[in-house]
Amino acid sequence: MKFFDNTIDGERTKSPSTFESRNPANGDVLGMVPHCTREQVAQAVAAAKAAQPAWAARPDAERKALTMKVAEVIKGNAEYLAEWVTREQGKPLGGLGPDQVPGARFEIWGCEVWTQVPASLELPVEVVFEDATRRDEMHRKPFGVVAAIAPWNWPLLIAVWQMIPAIRAGNTVVIKPSEYTSIGTLEMVRLIAEVLPRGVINTVSGPGEVGAWLVENPDVDKIMFTGSVTTGARIAAAAAKNVTPVTLELGGNDAAIVLPDADPKAMAMGLFWGAFLNMGQTCACAKRLYVHESLHDAVVDELKALATAMPMGDGMQPGVAMGPIQNRMQYDKVVSLVEKAKAGGATIVCGGEAPQGPGNFYPLTLVTDIADGAALVDEEQFGPVLPIIKYRSVDDAIASANRLDAGLGASVWSSNLDGAKAVASRIQAGTVWINQHGAIHPMVPFGGVKGSGWGVEFGVDGLKAVTQPQVISIKK
Ligand code: NAD
Repeated sequence: MKFFDNTIDGERTKSPSTFESRNPANGDVLGMVPHCTREQVAQAVAAAKAAQPAWAARPDAERKALTMKVAEVIKGNAEYLAEWVTREQGKPLGGLGPDQVPGARFEIWGCEVWTQVPASLELPVEVVFEDATRRDEMHRKPFGVVAAIAPWNWPLLIAVWQMIPAIRAGNTVVIKPSEYTSIGTLEMVRLIAEVLPRGVINTVSGPGEVGAWLVENPDVDKIMFTGSVTTGARIAAAAAKNVTPVTLELGGNDAAIVLPDADPKAMAMGLFWGAFLNMGQTCACAKRLYVHESLHDAVVDELKALATAMPMGDGMQPGVAMGPIQNRMQYDKVVSLVEKAKAGGATIVCGGEAPQGPGNFYPLTLVTDIADGAALVDEEQFGPVLPIIKYRSVDDAIASANRLDAGLGASVWSSNLDGAKAVASRIQAGTVWINQHGAIHPMVPFGGVKGSGWGVEFGVDGLKAVTQPQVISIKK
């Protein structure tokens, strides 16, 4: 059995106890992960704190060049890291081209790109006011130590989103990966730490308590959290004690609205992946589909044809498009929501029955004859199930989209751009996509409103989120 290590202050670090990481496709134990102690968390924060002033004092061009080097390391180890993502998280290896399944290779390619882009961005000094008597400049300063806490669905990509802008801006980082998918992150950080000064990036693996020790540490200056609403609220409460600023990327329950003038055939593939990317285990997947009654049956038929044709299996096997659900907790939640929908009289168009055999496999499931108020509609299922709700008036569909305390993404599908934009502007969500869903981009800010979080990541605004403003005010 292989034992993996944390990276703390540039050293490979073991812990007194370990826990198993399991392959969701077959239950095999993949390796043993250190369960960090409270002292080790404190050590990692101390190492990050000690390394930060020298890292921030480096010329910007040097930090930029080193961040670019990190992208090269990720690229150079892409296949190794992608295999860890597939084994641990379950998504198929897939490929990169437009005809390919967006799987683990896509995730690692994303890690590379989401490293290159912040590395190439600048935060220039802004003159916010100037007259004959004074000049006021806005400078951007790193916070210091950034604590990052990541989920299990896109484990390496989300770790990159949290870590890379932070280091680019002159912070140092301590990251805690999800206990379900630790090895890939530990290995990625081990590799990239080799090209960075010691202490700039550190890992602390373990369950939730390790994250709690991290966020309560008074030497943490900023927290980047991605995960569930429940944990996000706990972290915000812990952060309040030290008045530590927090970026929260939380759960969503994205509505997709198909307007009466949409073309079911043309949009089917985009909508399908918008809902089922990574088996629906994506924060900004479409999780409730509202279809105008005139198109309902045509849209259901198109989605059913795609859902029943996707090969599912162990993502290490070629030709697999869909993997398992990552963990049993999530699997049980999906099963329970589908069973409740059945009991409530919903129609299962396809899927809906858990197969026998090893692994957390659950078929792609479409559910109709269901309405707002059903648990499958109102709760984030975070799995391969899509409730499809028929609507009559567009006003009703917008009201449905806005009725929950979630506001990460949403989408509007139409052949009339102006009409779609008018609907989009009335939806309460951090991003509303038109004729696409979940189409994130490293230059475009991404974040939730309402219960889906605080702040944004990506692009210049994402870089600003890991800095604090300092005004230098000069008397003339
Ligand atoms: P989770 O909240 O259960 O866990 C996330 C992380 O928090 C894990 O590393 C966990 O160990 C840690 N944690 C647990 N308790 C903690 C505590 N008290 N203090 C500090 N850390 C603690 O979430 P999950 O199940 O891993 O992820 C799925 C959720 O994440 C879904 O709701 C999904 O929508 C959301 N998500 C959001 C985004 C986004 O960008 N908005 C992206 C991906 C996932």
